[in-house]
Amino acid sequence: MIVSIAPWISFTSCLDDKPKTPTTEQQQKYQQNSVVIPEFNGNSAFEFCKKQVDFGPRVPNTKEHDACKAWLLETLTNFADTVITQNTIQTVYNKKWNLTNIVAQFNPHAENRVMLCAHWDSRPRSDEDSMKANFDKGIPGANDGASGVGVLLELARLLHSQKPDIGVDLVLFDGEDIGYSTDGDNFCIGSKYFAKNLPVPKPRYAILLDLVGDKEAQFLVEQTSMQSAFAVVDKVWALGKLYGKGEFVLQQGGAITDDHIPLIEAGIPTIDIIDMELVGNRSSNPRRRYWHTQYDTMENISPVTLSSVGTVLTHLLFNNPIVI
Ligand SMILES: [Zn+2]
Repeated sequence: MIVSIAPWISFTSCLDDKPKTPTTEQQQKYQQNSVVIPEFNGNSAFEFCKKQVDFGPRVPNTKEHDACKAWLLETLTNFADTVITQNTIQTVYNKKWNLTNIVAQFNPHAENRVMLCAHWDSRPRSDEDSMKANFDKGIPGANDGASGVGVLLELARLLHSQKPDIGVDLVLFDGEDIGYSTDGDNFCIGSKYFAKNLPVPKPRYAILLDLVGDKEAQFLVEQTSMQSAFAVVDKVWALGKLYGKGEFVLQQGGAITDDHIPLIEAGIPTIDIIDMELVGNRSSNPRRRYWHTQYDTMENISPVTLSSVGTVLTHLLFNNPIVI
């Protein structure tokens, strides 16, 4: 993904500058419901993340990408009711890229559906790395890719043992990170194809996870998400306040070019949960300047952060998820 910082124009009035504390009514609504909500295991999500990184960079057209795909399909087939693969060959920079989007469905016949997504490919180049020799190396992609997929795989494990009332589609996009950093048109190749050739019915809304594993993650509200699905932002950040460890910050952020944009353009209200300070390596914390480098490794990832994100999503799926 790439960042395009745009001024916050239309929706400033919807957000205060200060983080909000949930009201007593909200807490009662979320905490005193009769639904038994399964426990999301951050350590399990961490292991799912590590397993992907251990394959090596999951760059399309490589054996590491093939091996990871086989493992993802095997894992999801064990957990989901239905698994769909969507293959496409897309030409980018005069090269043909063999891409596969993967969909894991739970309650496939339910009319009310929520889609949760992440990208599973790794960037083919480390173009933000201080070592120019690393430019042509694929990134390890522990946070940029594997973190979101790790959360979704752990959710798949939970949904296998306990189904919510709604249908859930977990979608792993391929080819998110092929574009050059100044070329926004050649990002999100897999999700663009998916959005134009939907292999599943449209969900009520979708939530994208990207860069969701850093040990000091901060999720500000992404601008286009706010405009597309305010009610989803409102509920997710309220749950984040209850069940997170301070990662969900109800403050305005910039606009990010990411896989949520093609979904929104296809008429699916979508939000992006993303640690946007990492994008462009603008953090005041030197450790957090690893985006699109060889240092996007498991050392930066925390089971606690993965647990916060996964717990929020688990509560969302099991407790009045139809907010749109
Ligand atoms: Zn990236």
